[in-house]
Amino acid sequence: MPSSEATSPEHTSFQPTPSQPWDDEADVIVVGFGGAGVSAALEAADNGADTLVLERYAGGGATRMSGGVFYGGGGTPYQKEAGFDDTPENMFNYLTQETRGVVKDETLRKFCDESPDNLQFLEDNGVVFGPNFCTFKTSYPIDKYNLYYSGNESFLPYTQTSEPAPRGHKPIGKGMGGRDFYDPLRSAAVQKGVRIRCQSKVTRILTGEDGNTIGVEAAVIPEDSFWARFHNFVGAFEYNTRYVTLGFPPFRYIALFLYALAERFAVPKRIRAKSGVILSSGGFIYNREMLKEHAPRYLAGIPLGSQGDDGSGIQLGCNAGGATDMMGNVSFWRFINPPDAFPKGILVNRKGKRICNEQYYGAKAGEFMCNEENATQGILIIDTKLWRQAHRGLLPDRAKWFQSMLTTLFLYTGKRAGSVEQLGKRFGIPADTLIETIEEYNALARNNGEGDPMGKMPAFFHELKPPFVGINISLDAFAGATLTLGGLVVNEETGEVKREDGSEIHGLYAAGRTAVGVSSSGYVSGLSIADCVFSGRRAANHASSKRLVETLGQ
Ligand SMILES: Cc1cc2nc3c(=O)[nH]c(=O)nc-3n(C[C@H](O)[C@H](O)[C@H](O)COP(=O)(O)OP(=O)(O)OC[C@H]3O[C@@H](n4cnc5c(N)ncnc54)[C@H](O)[C@@H]3O)c2cc1C
Repeated sequence: MPSSEATSPEHTSFQPTPSQPWDDEADVIVVGFGGAGVSAALEAADNGADTLVLERYAGGGATRMSGGVFYGGGGTPYQKEAGFDDTPENMFNYLTQETRGVVKDETLRKFCDESPDNLQFLEDNGVVFGPNFCTFKTSYPIDKYNLYYSGNESFLPYTQTSEPAPRGHKPIGKGMGGRDFYDPLRSAAVQKGVRIRCQSKVTRILTGEDGNTIGVEAAVIPEDSFWARFHNFVGAFEYNTRYVTLGFPPFRYIALFLYALAERFAVPKRIRAKSGVILSSGGFIYNREMLKEHAPRYLAGIPLGSQGDDGSGIQLGCNAGGATDMMGNVSFWRFINPPDAFPKGILVNRKGKRICNEQYYGAKAGEFMCNEENATQGILIIDTKLWRQAHRGLLPDRAKWFQSMLTTLFLYTGKRAGSVEQLGKRFGIPADTLIETIEEYNALARNNGEGDPMGKMPAFFHELKPPFVGINISLDAFAGATLTLGGLVVNEETGEVKREDGSEIHGLYAAGRTAVGVSSSGYVSGLSIADCVFSGRRAANHASSKRLVETLGQ
């Protein structure tokens, strides 16, 4: 569990008195207004609940910064229009392999069964998807495509149990899809009467004497005050410079200092939740202390997310007595396609052994690179022929600007070597193992990839000939983006937070990256956002269908 000043449930116990009354009340309080929060708020509002959102910053979180890809399948209208005959069963068979038992089979089945309905929910609330299918494999499609293979669906061993089907649904729009995904949902929430209170950091979950949740305490910067506007301005500046700040951490610290300045003028408010409190406050990649405690291997990576990913939502749940799991699971993204010449090379560790199928989706390759054996290290070996071919992948009909930028960096920082021995020396890899690995690979290439233990497609084999180019794509090399996947343990039927002993903290829910969910074991593009929608709606449905205030006799 994350270290915190207090982890006992008593710490949160509160009884309103005439001298300490409630400042406000709502049926459902949503803590954090990113992908999970907005899904929860919309669902609660649809169910007729008076819904209050408390958001520390301006809202949007990592979701608004993201690619906006929603992993949807089981026969969505866009899959059908693009000519794919996917079923929930087929989607389940694929995801079983990716999720490796992180949730119960019934939960994963529900996730797949409800996938078309969750897509419809997004569309009903203004998100616009499309059927334009991207025929080539890419880590993220260019603007004209809205449907693509966003995971490992077409590769072995996945094809042994499921028919390949593209499930990455990207909203129609230009650039990164996060805004196209999030902004319509937020507008829909406003239209449905959801009350949104930004610059409000929830600091405490309040529980009754029986340990059940009755409300929250929040540090609220007075609305329309100078400091609220100042806080908002820093947020807007930070969002608009996000691609700079992602790669340049000192920028973040300046923003944090400015936020802290404004937050000194916040006032504490106690707000009663009549039906439930939903923690949808993101992950903890920005809390380097928590990362050090749970997943120190990933400290060398670049945090991918928003300032809100400081683990405060997870800590709130822990302080109320909640248990955590999968906290060591971090997704490291190392995308090498585009250009499609790169996966024709070979990915080896510092011992000179091949790591995985080079065609794998970047987060899967990252997972392999970060296991015990490979210790976050990976060297991509190509030859000068592939090096030249890779330039084709820089063009805008294949790659977006950030993909071209990374490819350029890789191409021009790669180290050339006239022989395998020299290549080994340049990367500290024992030459004898590297010779053996490259010889085995070349033998496979000459045999059209037949019998490859890693299952790469024949078209992606290429006999490597000197001179070689070695590219360091390890976690600590350029832009090794990371995000956390673990969080609070929840009841998979209701979304309520569970204690270590397996009992539920009634009225306290967690969703999205604050909770353990479908994407907590391994990530493919779109799975985190799809889980936010699924878990956000699940929590809101349970919370808004229960009037805890009556059942608890408050
Ligand atoms: C560049 C990038 C690209 C990505 N692309 C994709 C993609 O295409 N598809 C996909 O599935 N995933 C993608 N991801 C990952 C995905 O965006 C996140 O995992 C997911 O959006 C998390 O959603 P969330 O609702 O859990 O958290 P968030 O969207 O981060 O929302 C949490 C909110 O809670 C607020 N908050 C935090 N603490 C408190 C508190 N104490 N009180 C009040 N408010 C609080 C935060 O300010 C924030 O607004 C991407 C991530 C990034 C950064």
